Amino acid sequence: MPPKAHTGSYDGTGGPGKWGDLDAANKACSVGLQQSPIDIEATVKSQLPALKVNWGKSADTIVNNGHTIQLNFAEGSTLMLGDVKYKLLQVHFHRPSEHMIGGKNFPMEAHFIHRNDAGGLAVVGVLMAEGRPTPAFGKIVKTMPAAEGPAVKADAGIDPHAMLPTKLSYFRYPGSLTTPPCSEVVEWLLLTTPIHVSAADVAAFAKLYPMNARPVQKDNRRYVLKSI
Ligand SMILES: [Zn+2]
Repeated sequence: MPPKAHTGSYDGTGGPGKWGDLDAANKACSVGLQQSPIDIEATVKSQLPALKVNWGKSADTIVNNGHTIQLNFAEGSTLMLGDVKYKLLQVHFHRPSEHMIGGKNFPMEAHFIHRNDAGGLAVVGVLMAEGRPTPAFGKIVKTMPAAEGPAVKADAGIDPHAMLPTKLSYFRYPGSLTTPPCSEVVEWLLLTTPIHVSAADVAAFAKLYPMNARPVQKDNRRYVLKSI
């Protein structure tokens, strides 16, 4: 889940097991104790604040950055987590999902990256199962640049809210970026309800990015909270 492009890849000598060696700045990738993603098994039911999503109705630009497809947002889209305000920066996609639930992957996962004024990140993760189509994702697939290159104007019909399930209950745990430099600055907010997208749209994404998911990391006794 890169706010910026990263140098690692997902296979061979630059693969996830080597990210920590690529650059001194990536050290957390190999020695960090709060790394992401994780396999979510035992959870602790908690009174967590409701996610107050107040995003705009469309994205600004879409880009194929060589690691994923990403949509960038203009100023004005926010998320309130309790009384902390975060700005929505971008959403991008992984195949298969990075987080696992009880040892199982989903076909894809979307990461909505938000940042607060202090520099902390809150990432809303949306698991993506195959089933009936989500038209907003269909539009992303139809308009995504086939090759790595500069950002271009996004289709105005891509409403990010349409990529959310109705129910915004979530798992919360402290973690990291899932790409170099793997910084441990992320409040992970993984929605418990997956959305559905068509198998054809997943296959189209997979033609560009068949595998861009970091393997699950040790939880190191972190608690995963689950909203009631
Ligand atoms: Zn991500």
